Parts: sequence; structure tokens; C-alpha cells
Amino acid sequence: MSTLTRRRNPDAHDESWRIHFGDVAAGTISRRSGNPSGTPEWQWLCGFYPGSQPGEQMVGTASTFEQARQSFEAAWTIFVSRRSPADFETWRRHQAFTAWKYAMWNAGCRMPTQSSTGRSRCFCGALIDLRTSESHIYACHIATPR
Ligand SMILES: [Zn+2]
Repeated sequence: MSTLTRRRNPDAHDESWRIHFGDVAAGTISRRSGNPSGTPEWQWLCGFYPGSQPGEQMVGTASTFEQARQSFEAAWTIFVSRRSPADFETWRRHQAFTAWKYAMWNAGCRMPTQSSTGRSRCFCGALIDLRTSESHIYACHIATPR
């Protein structure tokens, strides 16, 4: 059983933490930037999408990081109790597809959808077409759960 871990987001201007559940992005806890004084200093967002229904992600604010962390964990307990293994797989496949798309762009490769023949070559060298590209991504370019 995975537990929640957090890593500081190096790209965020204000203090922000990415919360992970194993290899899955479970949400964030961040210091709110530009909030008027007297309003809660922290905000959290819990849940992932796709792999859940729209509206199942939960958000909230808190005065302290510790309160935000506790609220996040309570929300996560509810969110994860409603997830099936297929939901996690949906999220992983979406991540793999998105990462593959960027890798294709970065390598200067065309997507099969951008080719008049519907065929293309993956950045790894494999020939792909409209019918096989998705299975190729999931077979060759999906991150294995840690
Ligand atoms: Zn490939």
C-alpha cells in the first residue's frame, strides 16, 4: 500500500508542495500568493483527473501548513476510497500519452494525425500509425509504478 509523500515544486514562485501517492500525483498544498491579510494563507487541492469524475477533486484553504496537510489527508482518504485500480491506470495512461506527445514535439517528430498517410515514426524509431500509436505508447513509453 502506497503512502502519501510530498516534494517541493521548484517551479512555483511561492512555497508549493506536490503530493504523491506512489507514482500518482495526488494533489498540491501551496502558499496562496497575493491573498489579502486575514484570509487563510494556505490552499490545498486533492485528487487527480482523469481517473475520477469531474467534481470529485476537492479544494480548501487553511491558516497553517499543518492544517492544510490534515485537511488534505482527510480529503484523500475519501477520494482514494472511491478509486479502483482502473482509475489509477487511466491517470497513468493519460500521463504517458502527454509525456509522449511532448517528447515527439521535442524530437521534431510528427504525430500520425499530422501526416497525410496516417503513418509516422516515433522518436524511439518505431513505425507507428493511427491504429498502433496508442498501444505503442503504453507498451514502450509508460512509466512503471515505483
Ligand atoms: Zn516509441
